[in-house]
Amino acid sequence: MTPAETALSDAPEPVGAMEHDEYYKVATEALPGAGLGSYSLPDDVRFVVHKGAGSRIQDVRGRWYVDYVGGAGALILGHAFPTVVEAVKDQAERGIHFFGTLNEQAIQLAEQLVSLIPCADRIAFTTTGSEATAYAMRTARAATGRSKVLKFEGAYHGNHDYSAFSVTPTALSNYPKGRPDTGGLPANMVDNVLISPYNDLDTLRRIVEENRVDLAAVIVEPIQRIIFPREDFLPGIRKICDDNGVLLIFDEVVTGFRLGLGGAQEYFGVIPDIASYGKVVGGGGPLGCVGGKAEFMDLMNPRNRGQANYSYVNGTLHGNPVAAVAGMATLDELKKPSFYTDLHALADDVCNACQEVLDKKRVPAIATGKGSFWQILFMDKPPVTHADVMNADNVAGRALDLAQMHEGLYVLPNVRRFVSAVHTGQDIEETVRALDAACKRL
Ligand code: PMP
Repeated sequence: MTPAETALSDAPEPVGAMEHDEYYKVATEALPGAGLGSYSLPDDVRFVVHKGAGSRIQDVRGRWYVDYVGGAGALILGHAFPTVVEAVKDQAERGIHFFGTLNEQAIQLAEQLVSLIPCADRIAFTTTGSEATAYAMRTARAATGRSKVLKFEGAYHGNHDYSAFSVTPTALSNYPKGRPDTGGLPANMVDNVLISPYNDLDTLRRIVEENRVDLAAVIVEPIQRIIFPREDFLPGIRKICDDNGVLLIFDEVVTGFRLGLGGAQEYFGVIPDIASYGKVVGGGGPLGCVGGKAEFMDLMNPRNRGQANYSYVNGTLHGNPVAAVAGMATLDELKKPSFYTDLHALADDVCNACQEVLDKKRVPAIATGKGSFWQILFMDKPPVTHADVMNADNVAGRALDLAQMHEGLYVLPNVRRFVSAVHTGQDIEETVRALDAACKRL
């Protein structure tokens, strides 16, 4: 039965090769925290994915969920989009991986990316978004000969050491000193990562001016999680960077190809020196890239090896042909005339429908978002700083999100959600029903 024929409330039949509990027994032995990363869900809502189809995923117990996690935003066309699947199958038959020289698919995708990414004279492939931000930061350090990078409080730029400060702090930072998010960081790392509050140009200017001698770059998520930039914020960062000879990096791992074909740069009309991409660019496959002005990208040229400003970029899977064809099949859809207007309208519909439920149930929360990003937050107006997000009632937010998981929505607690182009009117109806039932559960 297809997910569209299956109401979320229908009694499911197990479909996995093993029972749910057996999978968890194995996972508990084999994986730290029985997980695939930093999420740890309570026993009563966690599940093992069996497959994805369009806007939905099915767990091994046979239960379908409307998916608003969307592969952490990578799946702008939902699961198993026919032309993406076809391209992947076709490429897999001709080789899933090459190394050491060029492949046709990587060149074809690179040509498109250079024409679509406003700041990019050239791009360099990576495997993940984390690598893309790490290389962008390294390149900025190599270009300037300076060590420090400034990031904003609450911003996520991946899993590496330069990104592991004040992402999910339990208290606000003593700017510009960050709060480490993990153990295992080199002792002097904290001195190399400066923290400033998002949407606050005065503090940013002060910190940049005080550190300009050592500061290589400012890196920003143009839309930071669910916080949208004030109108003057991104142009203001650009100006502060220019005034102080500091490079500007946009982390477009999420916004790239999701806000529009030209990403946040086009949407907000601000052009960085270097930008990082992941997720949508590989159509859900293992691919990211760094793009930027030639003067910075050319520091990565292997012929520059041995120079003090050489920026080393290399990876076994870089330019992976299967991910490249998945990316190109995805871009073909994104280029269709009304793709983004339809996607954004769909997200507005979901948000409005959820707000109606919250209002009707007198739940003191907002369904907030723009573009295809949205989230339910227990606060009275959309957040402007990370402090606002921290001050929301996140205990209630988590409880409501978990209750929605019980009711058949795949969302993660207190995490921004994504609408994909294949969500349907029926999905919105199911979402309204699930949210209504979740409110009752609380
Ligand atoms: N930057 C941003 C803004 C992200 O959201 C993410 C992933 N959620 C990353 C970087 C890291 O990407 P990846 O998980 O592919 O390494």
